[in-house]
Amino acid sequence: MTNDHVTALTCTLCGARYDPTELRYTCENHEGVAGILEVEYDERVILDRFSADLDGDIPSQWKYAPFLPVDTECDPVTLGEGGTDLLDAPQLSVQLGVSVLVKDDGRNPTGCLKDRASSVGLTHASQSGYDTVTCASTGNAAASLAGYAARGGLDCRIFVPAGAPEGKLVQPQIYGADVLAVDGTYDEAYDLSLAVTDVYGWYNRNAAINPFLIEGKRTVGFELAEQSAVRGQVPDWLAFSMGDGCTIAGAWKGFREFFEFGFVDDVPKMLGVQAEGAAAIHDAFHECESTDEVETLADSISVGCPRNTVKACRALSDSGGTAVTVADSEILDGMRLLGATEGLYAEPAGAAPVAGVKRAVEDGIIAPDETVGIVSTGMGLKDTAGAAQATDGATEIAPSLSAVEALY
Ligand SMILES: *Cc1c(COP(=O)(O)O)cnc(C)c1O
Ligand SMILES: [Zn+2]
Repeated sequence: MTNDHVTALTCTLCGARYDPTELRYTCENHEGVAGILEVEYDERVILDRFSADLDGDIPSQWKYAPFLPVDTECDPVTLGEGGTDLLDAPQLSVQLGVSVLVKDDGRNPTGCLKDRASSVGLTHASQSGYDTVTCASTGNAAASLAGYAARGGLDCRIFVPAGAPEGKLVQPQIYGADVLAVDGTYDEAYDLSLAVTDVYGWYNRNAAINPFLIEGKRTVGFELAEQSAVRGQVPDWLAFSMGDGCTIAGAWKGFREFFEFGFVDDVPKMLGVQAEGAAAIHDAFHECESTDEVETLADSISVGCPRNTVKACRALSDSGGTAVTVADSEILDGMRLLGATEGLYAEPAGAAPVAGVKRAVEDGIIAPDETVGIVSTGMGLKDTAGAAQATDGATEIAPSLSAVEALY
C-alpha cells in the first residue's frame, strides 16, 4: 500500500490522534459526533510523489492523487470529476458591480461538487474492503454516492428526506441504489443513517463526519489555486454556499495547502453564503442567536444542525472572510442572473453565492475594486419545479405569424 503519506486522524477539538488505517468517524472524547476528525499528511512524501505541471490543464481531480488519502497506486473509482473551468463572467460582473469569475462545478458527472468527495470516498471504501455504502443527504450527496457506488461495484443504501426534489430521488435509483425516503427532515435522516452505520457496519459517506470525504473537496481549492496562478491573479474573495459547511472548509484547506507549498502566491478571503431560513453557521460565526428550524427553497443547503460548523467557521476566520445570508427571493434572482448573463443553469444552492456576492457588495463587505471567484456547486436541471419559481412561465401563443408579430 502506498498510503503512507497519511499519518494520522486528528481531532479538531482536542487534538487526539488516531490510526488512519482504522475507519473511525469521530473522536471518542466528545459527546455524539462533535469530535470531527481531520486527516493529517506527511507533506514531504506528497511532494516527492507529485510531479504534475501546474499549467491549468486539469483532466480530472486525480491530477492531485498524491494529495488524496487513498492508496494512490490503485485505480481510483472515477467518472472524470473535477477539472471544471474557471470562467470569465463579464456580463455578470457588470450586473454585480464587481469583477467575478465563475467556477461551474455543476458540470461534474452527477451534477454537483459532491462528486469530488464521492470519488475519494468510494475509492477509500473499496480499498478498505467494504461492499456497501450509505449516507444521508439533502439530495445531491445521495445521487452522487449512488453514481460512484455503481461505478465501483458497491451496493448503495441512502436516506433522504421525503420532501427532497423528485429529480434527486429518481437519479440515485437509476444508478441502482436503494433510496429510503425518510418521513422527516434532513437532520432526522442524518441521525438514522448514523444509527444504521453502527448496526450494519456499512461505509458511511456523510462528508461532515467521514474525515476522508472532505479531503476530496480540497481538490476544488487545488484547482482554484492552480487556475489563479495560471491567470496570474488570486481573487480577493471566493464565494461558496454553506449547508453542513464541509465544502467551504475543504476548499479553504486545499487552497491554503497550495499556498503553503508555494504553488500560488496569495490566498483569498472566504465568503460563506447561507439562506436566511437555514443560517446556523452564519449565526455561529457572528455569535448571534440561532434556531435549528429550517425554511428555504435551497434544498441542498437546508440544514438545521450543520455538522461542520467548527471547520467552516475556521475557514472563514483564518482567511479573513465572513458569512452572509440571503433571502430565498434573492436566491431566485441569483439563478435568473447567472442563467441570463452567462448561460449557466444552477440549482438554488449553486446560485446562492451569486446572491451572497450581490449582498456583500451592497453592504460594503466586498469593495468594488476587488475580484471574486464564485463557485457554483450544483446544476439546475435536477429540479425543474424549483427553478420554475424563478421564471414567469412560457408565453402561450397561437400557431400563427401574426401572434409573433404582436409580440416583437
Ligand atoms: C451539499 C451542497 C452544498 C453545501 O455543501 P456543505 O458541504 O453541506 O456545506 C452546496 N451546494 C450544493 C449544490 C450542494 O449539493
Ligand atoms: Zn477529541
